[in-house]
Amino acid sequence: MLLEPSMKQTDMLKITKLHHAMVEVTTSCNLRCSYCQVSDPSWKPKTLAKDSVMQVLGEFKNLNTSLIHLHGHGETTIIDGWTEYAETLLEANIEVSLCSNLSKQFSDKEIDILSRLTGLTVSLDTLDPDLFKKLRRGGDIKHILHNMIKIKTIAHKYNRPLRISWSIVVCDLSVWGLLDLTHCGIMLGVTGFTFSNLGVNETPKNATEVNHVAEMPIEDCRKAVIIFEQIKALCKMKNVAYDLKYGIIDSMVEKINNSGKKPILPMKIM
Ligand code: SF4
Repeated sequence: MLLEPSMKQTDMLKITKLHHAMVEVTTSCNLRCSYCQVSDPSWKPKTLAKDSVMQVLGEFKNLNTSLIHLHGHGETTIIDGWTEYAETLLEANIEVSLCSNLSKQFSDKEIDILSRLTGLTVSLDTLDPDLFKKLRRGGDIKHILHNMIKIKTIAHKYNRPLRISWSIVVCDLSVWGLLDLTHCGIMLGVTGFTFSNLGVNETPKNATEVNHVAEMPIEDCRKAVIIFEQIKALCKMKNVAYDLKYGIIDSMVEKINNSGKKPILPMKIM
């Protein structure tokens, strides 16, 4: 393509509009989940300096960005000044979303900011308080649900369109309670569920060992497949989003079908 004499290549590469963006404010976290690399002693968390974040957010304002996700691999809400980041964007009419473990004691101001988000993804894996403490070390499911209800109450009070989704890591210990967990979420107004694969991190010392569901015995895999079928049907019936990541059910089905025992028909694979 021929360039106009006045147009330099750098001008052509200049971004003038950015619809969505993600800012990883920190890789530090207040929990030590037994399956997360953040729990590895070699993990070196980093947090962006406030000046850098404010500068980046200012750039997004100039680029007419419509939605910014204030989260990466860490817990944004433990960073001093995170409400200021969110407020700066909200006041510029930029929608904000983030993912949180909701495990801290929030101030009224923080609850208010969380209720003004467009999307809040809450990470949790089980309703069982004892198992929760083992899996998500430092967290308490009762406290998380209480925080969520407070945030939803304020959003409801001021007619704010907050959408809450749940992000769930699937493992051999938590899979048995996932149908109840989904029922609970729907009852609390959760609009979507994402079921994620267990990573391949080594279990940290003194942490409860968790395994991928495909490592369970064949009969347990068979029962787990049925649980996911029930969850999928429930989500469809209640018109909420269901996102099952690759490598969960397909790996269990493959294991069953390769075992020489009664196979699972392809139509059962989700
Ligand atoms: S809450 Fe998220 S980032 Fe923090 S330790 Fe657990 S999985 Fe890792």
